[in-house]
Amino acid sequence: MTDERETELLASVPDGLLIGGEWRPAEDGKTLAVSDPSTGEVVKTIASASVADGKAALDAAVEAFPSWAATPARERAELLRRAYDLLQERKEEFALLMTIEMGKPLAEARGEVVYGGEFVRWFSEEAARIQGRYGANPEGTGRMIVSQHPVGPCYLITPWNFPLAMATRKIAPALAAGCTVVIKPAALTPLTTLYFAKLLEDAGLPAGVVNVVTTKASGPVSEEIIRDPRLRKLSFTGSTPVGQQLLEQAAGGVLRTSMELGGNAPFVVFDDADLDKAVDGALLAKFRNIGQACTAANRFIVHRSVADEFARRVTERVKAMKIGRGTEDGVQIGPLIDDRAVAKASELVKDAVGRGADLRTGGNPIDGPGTFYEPTVVTGVKPGSEILREEIFGPVLAIVPFDDEDEAVRLANDTEYGLVSYVFTENLARGQRMIERLETGMMGLNMGVVSNAAAPFGGWKMSGLGREGGAEGIHEYLQTKYTLTPNP
Ligand code: NAD
Repeated sequence: MTDERETELLASVPDGLLIGGEWRPAEDGKTLAVSDPSTGEVVKTIASASVADGKAALDAAVEAFPSWAATPARERAELLRRAYDLLQERKEEFALLMTIEMGKPLAEARGEVVYGGEFVRWFSEEAARIQGRYGANPEGTGRMIVSQHPVGPCYLITPWNFPLAMATRKIAPALAAGCTVVIKPAALTPLTTLYFAKLLEDAGLPAGVVNVVTTKASGPVSEEIIRDPRLRKLSFTGSTPVGQQLLEQAAGGVLRTSMELGGNAPFVVFDDADLDKAVDGALLAKFRNIGQACTAANRFIVHRSVADEFARRVTERVKAMKIGRGTEDGVQIGPLIDDRAVAKASELVKDAVGRGADLRTGGNPIDGPGTFYEPTVVTGVKPGSEILREEIFGPVLAIVPFDDEDEAVRLANDTEYGLVSYVFTENLARGQRMIERLETGMMGLNMGVVSNAAAPFGGWKMSGLGREGGAEGIHEYLQTKYTLTPNP
């Protein structure tokens, strides 16, 4: 990849808002600058929507809804399938674009194109499987018809950490179900969504079915859309505090909502675990996406008898990690998204060490340009440390020892979150007990990554509401109607 190639790619990304099939600047002319976190340099300037633009985007989604809902499911499916095929053709461009705007290593960005693309393929297949039922009621007094209908115009808000997958995980099921959407990507990484919207147009997207508003004014633009009585559904992926605020706004219209919120994943290693597998799983669960994943392992709860050996092995691997811009060969650790993320990782490590944890490696921000933080291992983390309570969202692996299974369960469940848990044990019965005892929406049993388009992704407790992916995913965008008719 050359700089020239990057310049050419960036020039081909739309810089406007997509409203009703037209790319246009913000009505007040405002713009938003997008930077490369590995250099701090602005790479592109795009439109920043006003409240009026947000409303215009919703107008377009409302107008397009009846005809899209009435489009045969097979046609909706075929549009998505064409989009999937185009995504394969443009895989390298999407990967490079994500590395530029978000910072993840190119190899991981390619992985995200595969993962994000799978949602498009999966929901292209699900579109044709929306089913109802018909039958006599138990009393024999009538016939019941149960049918599924698209919920209507949807508002989709996505975070910066997986710029493609977070968009496809929402757009694909919505379109498959017959819904139209307004999507608002994160202001830090809007380019991938704009590029994907262009791809959808190339696949034959009718005007108004997908509208994109990029904006610096997330709060006001979103509130106006969410409070509009014509909106029928809000799907949000992001932090729990913002999700809570949006749920309050959504309550006014009793909106259908899906909330994919924060996590604080435990990664439990028992004394009967295969330590090689556990170390491999730990590195994936912790350092993928530079630790900036809602599914990132946050607390390594390791049996006291193997804690030291586990710490020694992960430290050795972490010390060998290559840090740099994601486009460089072999880089495993790119930049964090911004200064705030670096400051947060620093503070959490300082707090843990100040309370008696042992710093095995890392622990420092790296001088600029770019917002880098050293991959870090701390062990012997003491109860009460902030790092056990907060979502780290950075390359910091924190180890807490435990003595018996009950204590492991208590520590793992000691969080208001419940998105994903990882457990490493070679004892089948223990693994089964952990499936039953952990308060978690998803679990990796001897696996460090769980996400899959065919599986229901989502959390318990304050990690959210609803599921994305799997057979469940399309139902987030469908509503049920029951009709009673007389016996024939
Ligand atoms: P964030 O909550 O700050 O932002 C998410 C989105 O909401 C962005 O588009 C942002 O512009 C928008 N936003 C921010 N404030 C808003 C407001 N007042 N009104 C309307 N929109 C607003 O989160 P983030 O920093 O972008 O992403 C990281 C968070 O996302 C982490 O907590 C992570 O765990 C979570 N996340 C969850 C999942 C999941 O599937 N559960 C997946 C990825 C990320």
